Amino acid sequence: MSNSDELDIIVVGAGLSGLSCGYELAKAGLQVAILERGDMAGTKNLSGGKLYLEPVHEFCDDFLKDAPFERPVVSESIILTDESSSVSCRLDCREDSGFPNSVTVLMNPLVKHLAKKVSEKGALILPQQKVDELIWKNGKVIGVKIGSEVLNARVIVLADGVLSFLAQETGLRPEHLTRLYGLGIKEIIQLDSAIIEDRFNLPSGLGASRMFVGKITQGLPGGGFIYTNSNSLSIGIVVHLEAIQDWKSDKEIWELLEAFKSRPDVAPLLSGGKTVEYGAHLIPEGGFKNLPKPGIPGLLLVGDAAGFVLNTGSTLRGMDLALVSGVLAAKSIKEAAKKNFSSEVCLNHYQQVLKKNFIINQMKRYKKASDLLALQRLYNRYPHRMVRLTQEMFMVNSEGKSTSFGKMVRKFIFKVFGWRGLRDIWRLIRLGS
Ligand SMILES: Cc1cc2nc3c(=O)[nH]c(=O)nc-3n(C[C@H](O)[C@H](O)[C@H](O)COP(=O)(O)OP(=O)(O)OC[C@H]3O[C@@H](n4cnc5c(N)ncnc54)[C@H](O)[C@@H]3O)c2cc1C
Repeated sequence: MSNSDELDIIVVGAGLSGLSCGYELAKAGLQVAILERGDMAGTKNLSGGKLYLEPVHEFCDDFLKDAPFERPVVSESIILTDESSSVSCRLDCREDSGFPNSVTVLMNPLVKHLAKKVSEKGALILPQQKVDELIWKNGKVIGVKIGSEVLNARVIVLADGVLSFLAQETGLRPEHLTRLYGLGIKEIIQLDSAIIEDRFNLPSGLGASRMFVGKITQGLPGGGFIYTNSNSLSIGIVVHLEAIQDWKSDKEIWELLEAFKSRPDVAPLLSGGKTVEYGAHLIPEGGFKNLPKPGIPGLLLVGDAAGFVLNTGSTLRGMDLALVSGVLAAKSIKEAAKKNFSSEVCLNHYQQVLKKNFIINQMKRYKKASDLLALQRLYNRYPHRMVRLTQEMFMVNSEGKSTSFGKMVRKFIFKVFGWRGLRDIWRLIRLGS
């Protein structure tokens, strides 16, 4: 510690971003306190549960060693849904195919485990400590206030999640506009592991991811997911918040999850299971164009608080970005510590490493994704027509005739999509290129 009443670093929030940052700092011998408003680490964090490992490899290998992952994902599907029928595109990977590059996780045990690792490295994790405001001096953040108590530090890291009222207080984040968020609702359904493997056609210990698009969100931009855990399934939907606001329906949004669970192509997968957890949480979906500056003198933003979530339509990534941004912030603080915790060094270094590593690069590559994924026709017209066309393909009429392949292709091009649809496909293909 630099002087008797000042810590080196205060991290606000013990989610994945706050913990990876705290681990890296404590490992370097710096004095870190992680303040968490929840009763204990892991009680306030919610995720769908598919963690992409490849991007975090280089940064978090040691931190994630022995982490309680649920199942490596070897079976991936995208499922287009109509009222009660669906069309699937499924990839089943063999052991020698280089997969899996993702694993399923449950937030509570994962965060608890990681918090223990961070404590063992010497960081102080203080639960039931809700930071109410920041302390400023000469335009620099120098501490935090919890009730009437003041804690000072050389650097404050805001890892306080999607709504980060503290980042809003600094002016870095704008007001909470509905167009910048998605809403996720999720359940964990307990099921025997052998039943899961049987129903999802999985080898022992391996896992599946099923993404659903179409009728399940009643045409609203968003989708659904099912991930297999060791002894449970994670099932949920994510819907764009602005679309919910404009939704003309007498239904409540949670009813979409109930309807999803009772679909004829989903209910048999869940049958006999018991709901053991239910939660709802916002997701930052503003994308690259709405990223805030990642800090100001004395303060850095990481994870959801910095808007680091990437939705490409086929992948939703926030956990890997949270873990890596925490590590990059810690690296920048270590660099600044060599120069008496210079705010300038700290912020410049953080901006540089964010650009140099994949976070900003990838968010920039997908900068058009949020506008494209907001188009309602991706969720109503195309899935509906694809299901109808596929039904037709497998049908034989009373004269014993089925639709010819040539006719199917013509219908696919002109009826299912049309010219505008083909342009949409082209834009989807070009996303990220
Ligand atoms: C339904 C849903 C599905 C998702 N699916 C996926 C997925 O499959 N794959 C993926 O990679 N990502 C997914 N995400 C996104 C991912 O979960 C998040 O991006 C990631 O977990 C964010 O981590 P974080 O540490 O930044 O924030 P959080 O986990 O939100 O942690 C913030 C912490 O700060 C604490 N806090 C807040 N305010 C204060 C305060 N004032 N004082 C003290 N403590 C405070 C909170 O209690 C919390 O513990 C999903 C998200 C949702 C909601």
